[in-house]
Amino acid sequence: MKTTLADAIQQIDRQPIQACYVGTDAAERLAAFVSDRLGAACLVVADENTLAAGGDRLLRALSAAHRKIVHKTYGAEPLDATEDLGNEVAAAAQDVDVIVALGSGTLCDLAKHAGTQLDKPSVLYATAASMNGYTSGITALKVRGLKRTTPCDPAAAVFADPEVVATAPRRMAAAGVADFLSKCSSASDWRAAHYLRDEYYSPKAMAFYEGTVERVLDAAPGVGRTETDALAVLLEALLLSGLSMLSAGSSSPASGGEHLLSHYLDMKSALYGTPHDLHGAQVGVGTLHCLGLWERILAMDPALLDADALAAAQPQESAIREWIEEDWGPAVAHEVLSQWQLKALPPEALRGEIARFAAGADTVRNSVRQDYLPPATVADAIRAAGGPVSPEELNAPADEFQKAVKRARFIRNRFTVLDLAAELGIG
Ligand SMILES: [Zn+2]
Repeated sequence: MKTTLADAIQQIDRQPIQACYVGTDAAERLAAFVSDRLGAACLVVADENTLAAGGDRLLRALSAAHRKIVHKTYGAEPLDATEDLGNEVAAAAQDVDVIVALGSGTLCDLAKHAGTQLDKPSVLYATAASMNGYTSGITALKVRGLKRTTPCDPAAAVFADPEVVATAPRRMAAAGVADFLSKCSSASDWRAAHYLRDEYYSPKAMAFYEGTVERVLDAAPGVGRTETDALAVLLEALLLSGLSMLSAGSSSPASGGEHLLSHYLDMKSALYGTPHDLHGAQVGVGTLHCLGLWERILAMDPALLDADALAAAQPQESAIREWIEEDWGPAVAHEVLSQWQLKALPPEALRGEIARFAAGADTVRNSVRQDYLPPATVADAIRAAGGPVSPEELNAPADEFQKAVKRARFIRNRFTVLDLAAELGIG
């Protein structure tokens, strides 16, 4: 049965998101929400692009509701999302009751950061269907040049008008399709981690996706044509995906190996200045790689697995340490290594894990099949939406993506298909 946004919010325990709404009257709904619940004075954080896209509707609705409005407007150039910028927004919000972000990833993160600093609510007016982070309880801002994900208070409410979102560049919505569909691989990773490493798993969080994947696959060509109905389907799906993470209390339902591949490219970009693409665009290409690994795992004959030989073939800890130092340099390698060491298994335990997979392969694989989609199906949807489906099509170095395929699993303490495939000698 379809989960509505209102049902989803009801089902989340102890979380502060009070409303999520997608519709062409989103600005009026936002203004009414702020009036009724949050106070009289608000800071609107925007840049020139988002102001051109949704500023008219939002400011007209807020003015009609007799809001006192203070502005913090950045230029048209892409913002460097730093914590300093978030503190600047907090300074501008000293005398208001609520911070309203008019934008997507970065501007919303700045508002959530400032709200958390000041213990004031933030409300988001989304201008792009590019990712599922609107409802999240983390910000991704740079501190001393390196992007850090930091816990924050989630926004009090998120509103999105598909007619405003339709004015964003087409590749942003294509990135949103890909970020949403990454669930087909990430949820499979989560199920495998539950089975093989006894990690917490929440069927309730996964229920938010019921029927939603099919609707996004159907909507993808319409997203590619910038149709507002299709964008509304996508926005709702992205918000449900974000709420599923809040419900799970972790990003696991929507962030697995494919996200590690994207984070690897982002970290390289932050450290060495190499280009990176939109989060969802990178995640989409990562998803196709990870679904390809799952395809092979689903097709393999577990009777042929030799746990002793596979365990013996795993890279030595000294080799892994060398790769990590080569990738990240002395300043960052230490941090990466400590993430890896949290999930690295000693040889005997590794052998045990491979044997456990072999013995229970059908159980794991039947569970994974509930989320898995063939890579060709997901590629068709991303392509129909106008997004990239190969590393060469990304605005990021293809050779770094190939490196990520081998080494991204070391950057985070999360068991994913990148680990499982390596253990099974695939890839
Ligand atoms: Zn994502």
